[in-house]
Amino acid sequence: MTSQADPFDLSGRVAVVTGAGSGIGRATAQQLAAAGAYVVCADIDGAAATATADGIGKAASAAALDVTDRAAVFALIGSTADEQGRLDILCNVAGIIRTGRVVDVEVADLDAVLDVNFRGTFHGCQAAARIMSAAGGGSIVNTASGAVDTAQPEIMSYSVSKAAVVQLTRNLAAEVGRFGVRVNAVAPGLVRTAMTARHYLLPDGSVDEAARAAAERPLRRMSPLGMIGEPEDIAHAVRYLVSDAARFVTGQIIRPNGGVAMPW
Ligand code: NAD
Repeated sequence: MTSQADPFDLSGRVAVVTGAGSGIGRATAQQLAAAGAYVVCADIDGAAATATADGIGKAASAAALDVTDRAAVFALIGSTADEQGRLDILCNVAGIIRTGRVVDVEVADLDAVLDVNFRGTFHGCQAAARIMSAAGGGSIVNTASGAVDTAQPEIMSYSVSKAAVVQLTRNLAAEVGRFGVRVNAVAPGLVRTAMTARHYLLPDGSVDEAARAAAERPLRRMSPLGMIGEPEDIAHAVRYLVSDAARFVTGQIIRPNGGVAMPW
């Protein structure tokens, strides 16, 4: 461990966070930087990534990155390790959702979701695990979802993509642990972000807060904490997982979800 005093300290560590332009990815980038890491904020929306990096300041840079572009993922992760002299942390947060009943799902939608959520995570894992294994250490955190524990209607593509992320996490953890590389995932419950707000948009683009509150009510009742999550609630779990405080933790799926155990 580099920090005997505080195992949560990330000073001197170099991190790449995908999906860092919004929601959970942005909060993750902010939390890692707050813990002392240098963070490369990557997002398909380059302006949003820049906004995150600018908000952090000198301890961050921004990159426009489509995680479905395998060559671009390898190039960014490789150049980060080269330029910064090390790569300690990769957080694969970028993700999308498409809804539709199983009998109606368009193959193009299924492919799009699998491409971003599963293959994008796979590309990042492969690129980072090679570098980290050769260097003798590192930590990867993938983003699954509470959807992997349930069979909620109309989100099969998303649930399948996240189930694949869970299994990728376990398989990779089993292979790279002996090189000092840890691989875990978070499976968030419902979190207030642009992704979830999109379901409640009004024609003028604003969020229908009444509809959102009505949809959240049953979930609040199912949560022992009575809560809907904020992006920071997930980012704090990620911050723990990538730190030395979690040095005995690998192949795990951590569920920051307010205690919800959905029975569907
Ligand atoms: P969000 O929409 O606010 O942020 C997602 C970010 O990913 C956006 O900035 C978007 O531009 C970026 N992105 C999308 N496609 C990309 C691509 N091809 N390459 C690079 N970046 C891309 O969503 P969020 O709620 O913050 O979701 C973050 C992650 O958390 C996702 O993987 C999502 O599936 C997962 N998740 C969210 C919730 C929730 O309730 N919000 C729950 C469980 C899991």
